[in-house]
Amino acid sequence: KKLNSAQVRRMYLDFFIQHGHTEMPSRSLVPVDDPTLLWINSGVATMKKYFDGQVVPKNPRMTSSQKSIRTNDIENVGKTARHHTMFEMLGNFSVGDYFKDDVIPWAWELLTSDEWFGFDPERLYITYYPKDDAAKKDWLKAGVKEDHLIPDQDNFWDIGQGPSGPDTEIFYDRGQEFNNLPEDDPESYPGGENERYLEIWNIVFSQFNHTPEDTYEPLPHKNIDTGMGLERVVSIFENAPTNFETDLFMPLIKQVEGFSDGKQYGKNKTDDIQFKIIADHIRSITFAINDGALPSNMGRGYVIRRLLRRSVVAGKKLGIDEPFLAKMVPTVGEIMKDYYPDVLENADYVAKVIKSEEDRFSATLNGGLSLLNQVIEEAKTTGTKQIDGQTAFKLYDTYGFPVELTEEYAADEGLTVDDKGFAAAMTEQQNRARNARDMDNGMGVQTDLWTDFKDESKYVGYTDLEVENAKVI
Ligand code: ATP
Ligand code: MG
Ligand code: MG
Ligand code: MG
Repeated sequence: KKLNSAQVRRMYLDFFIQHGHTEMPSRSLVPVDDPTLLWINSGVATMKKYFDGQVVPKNPRMTSSQKSIRTNDIENVGKTARHHTMFEMLGNFSVGDYFKDDVIPWAWELLTSDEWFGFDPERLYITYYPKDDAAKKDWLKAGVKEDHLIPDQDNFWDIGQGPSGPDTEIFYDRGQEFNNLPEDDPESYPGGENERYLEIWNIVFSQFNHTPEDTYEPLPHKNIDTGMGLERVVSIFENAPTNFETDLFMPLIKQVEGFSDGKQYGKNKTDDIQFKIIADHIRSITFAINDGALPSNMGRGYVIRRLLRRSVVAGKKLGIDEPFLAKMVPTVGEIMKDYYPDVLENADYVAKVIKSEEDRFSATLNGGLSLLNQVIEEAKTTGTKQIDGQTAFKLYDTYGFPVELTEEYAADEGLTVDDKGFAAAMTEQQNRARNARDMDNGMGVQTDLWTDFKDESKYVGYTDLEVENAKVI
C-alpha cells in the first residue's frame, strides 16, 4: 500500500473517530499553563488537565495528531534515521474509559487490516512489560504470534510521581538490509539501539499512582495514552530509506540542493547530515515561531536560536554563503498545508523573524568560524584535547555561537569544550551586567546580554528539563 503523509494522518484519525473518539486539534507547541514543560513534546502533554482530573473532557475518547518538539533529540538528527526535533505524534486517548483489552485489538486492526494500514504481521514485533500478563494475552488473542512478543523490563512508564504503568511498544522490521549493526550485536533486537527495528508506536496503560512514599496504588480510573510517530510510519508507506526521503522532507532537501554550490543529497554521508539538519530544523523553527515563540538567549527562544544557527553552519558546510533559511518557510507551509494551513498564511511574518536572526548571525559567522578554526589548529599542534571555557564564551558572546554548536564543531575534530569554564565565564559576565545595572538604577544598560538575561538569575541548562519530561509517553 502507498499512502502519503496526509493520508496516513487522516487514516489514523478516522480509525479512532470510527471507534467513538473526538478529533482534537494539534495544539500550540508552546505549552499553556504548564511551567514544567518547555515545549509540548507528546500528544498526552496537551491532555494533562484531563488525565489529572482537573477538567472533565466532553468525550473521554480523544484522538489527535500533535506537533511535538524534543530537544533531547537535537543531536540525533541526521545521525539516526528516525529522530526529529519536531515531529507529529498520532495518538488516541482514553480518560477513564476503555483500557487494554480494547486498545490492543484496535491497534492490531489498524496496523494489519487491509482496509487500514495493511502491514504484514510478520514485520511487526511487540514489546511488553514482563509482569503484564494481561497485555500479552490480549496481543495473542488479537492475533500476534508468540515469537513476535518480547518481554522487556524497560516497558514501564514512570515519571517519578503520579500516574504510571506498564506500556507496550510496536516495532516495524524494516529488514536485515536496514541493520546498521553486526548481526550478533546485543542491541540488534526490537527495542535496541538500531535502525532495523523501527519503533512506530508506544501504548501506555496508566493504571497506578506512583505515590510520594514510592508505592504503586491502583488508579480508580485507568487511562490509555498512545503515541505513533507520523514521519516513521510514512517512511514505511513510501518505502523510504529514512524519514527524510518522504514527501514531508524531500522538497526541503531539494531546495537546499539548489542553494548549495552543486551539492547533491545522497552522495556522501557528511553532506547528507547537513541536508538533514537543515530540513529538520527549518520545520521546528518555522512552527515554533508560528506558534508565538521568538529567538532569544534563554528558554524556548534559545532552542530556536540554537537550531537556527546550527542550520546556518550546516548550510555553510554545504557551501551556502547567502542567507537561505527564510526562503524555506513557504516550502514548509506548502508541505504541511493540509493539516496546518496557518503556517502558509503566516509565512511572511515567520520568514521576517528568521531573516533578521539569520542576518544577525551571518554578520559574525565568519569571524566566529575563523576563531574556532584557529583554536582547533592550536589544539592540534599543542596536543590539548579541549577548547577552553573563555574561548567558548567569546564565541558565544561575541560571535553568537551557542555553546552546543561549538561543542559539536569541536567534536568533529576530536575535541571537547570546557563546560565548567564556559559556565564560569558566563556567570562572571552576568555579574558584571548586574553590577552595572545596580549602579545605573536599572537604566541605561543597553547590552544584549542585559535584555536577554534580565529574567534569569543564572544559566540553566534547558536540556535537563526536557530529558526529564521526554518519557512522557
Ligand atoms: P525512540 O526510542 O525512538 O527515541 P521514544 O520511545 O523516545 O522513541 P515515545 O516517547 O515512545 O518515543 O514517543 C512515541 C512515538 O513517537 C515513538 O514510538 C516514535 O514513533 C515517535 N517519536 C519519538 N521521538 C521521536 C522523534 N524525536 N522524532 C520522530 N518521531 C519520534
Ligand atoms: Mg526517544
Ligand atoms: Mg523508545
Ligand atoms: Mg517509546
